[in-house]
Amino acid sequence: MTTPTIELKPSAHPLPAAEREAILADPGFGRHFTDHMVTIKWTEGRGWHDGQLVPYAPIPLDPATNVLHYAQEIFEGLKAYRQPDGSVATFRPDQNALRFQRSAHRLAMPELPVETFVEACDALVRQDRDWVPAHGGEQSLYLRPFMIGTEVGLGVKPANEYLFIVIASPAGAYFPGGVKPVSIWASQDRVRAVPGGMGDAKTGGNYAASLLAQAEAAAQGCDQVCYLDAVEHKWVEELGGMNLYFVYGDRIVTPTLTGSILEGVTRDSLLAVARDLGYTSEEARVSIDQWREDTESGALTEVFACGTAAVITPVGTVKTDGAQWAQGDGTPGPVTLRLREALLGIQRGVTEDKHGWMHRLG
Ligand SMILES: *Cc1c(COP(=O)(O)O)cnc(C)c1O
Repeated sequence: MTTPTIELKPSAHPLPAAEREAILADPGFGRHFTDHMVTIKWTEGRGWHDGQLVPYAPIPLDPATNVLHYAQEIFEGLKAYRQPDGSVATFRPDQNALRFQRSAHRLAMPELPVETFVEACDALVRQDRDWVPAHGGEQSLYLRPFMIGTEVGLGVKPANEYLFIVIASPAGAYFPGGVKPVSIWASQDRVRAVPGGMGDAKTGGNYAASLLAQAEAAAQGCDQVCYLDAVEHKWVEELGGMNLYFVYGDRIVTPTLTGSILEGVTRDSLLAVARDLGYTSEEARVSIDQWREDTESGALTEVFACGTAAVITPVGTVKTDGAQWAQGDGTPGPVTLRLREALLGIQRGVTEDKHGWMHRLG
């Protein structure tokens, strides 16, 4: 199957520079979108076609469109960072492309070639490069590639037509006032994903499943939900949008991928960054009881969550049915901060990129 080229049809009326700069001064997260988007269609028998870069605009959908009823939807999230020399680079876009293929496979959707995924992101960033915040802070341009089933009809089956879109949104520093630990509610009865389910696919359905638990966490006075495994309600999985790491002195441990954990690019990168800094990093099963016992004994010194949006977020307190404990003294731990600096340094182009992770757009 041939890979489609992306035809450039830029807007004649991009947002005036002064208005764009006003947005970039305080972009928040996911509130503002750039002037353009890339769209590529897939049709059964024809494959990928009609790649276009067009002005950002609503997409008209028939009320009987597949995705609105049976939720064939997958997405990705990655960032473009301004480099010290003024150029722009994205972080490991090939890994997002490969995960997008795995998600597509799980939801019986067509797989977009890796080079097309990367080219679509590149085309959008090149066109809207003025939307990539200046070097210096922790700001970035967040890219959101996604795909939906667009066949019209209520029959339950994989759609015979799909639409792939990439949009972009400037993102401010996740912690404008400095890194702040989050409080965690470890839910004993709600689960995010089940063995054999789609927890390892990046799909909106997993997020829909997490919203009620998130509201329950808020009612418990907590910021985020930590999900335990769906069978024994015992093994720590992830936060539902971020993976977890446990720091035992100079050994860092992340839960082993079980099929119901999303394989984060940040998680994977930290396994390597930690080794580069002289730590031991490994994957292992961690139970909620062990988490508490090891914290109380002092063996477990820090816990943090990681993902593209926040990079690294320290965990400050943990609450679950019948138990509650503090993680550290309420300030981010030294290993957490060191790993955070190291990864941000690579992404912002101030630390040597020895793994070749940065994809430079010139
Ligand atoms: C995207 C996501 C993550 C983090 O993955 P990154 O590639 O590091 O951004 C973790 N868990 C879930 C459920 C996710 O959707």
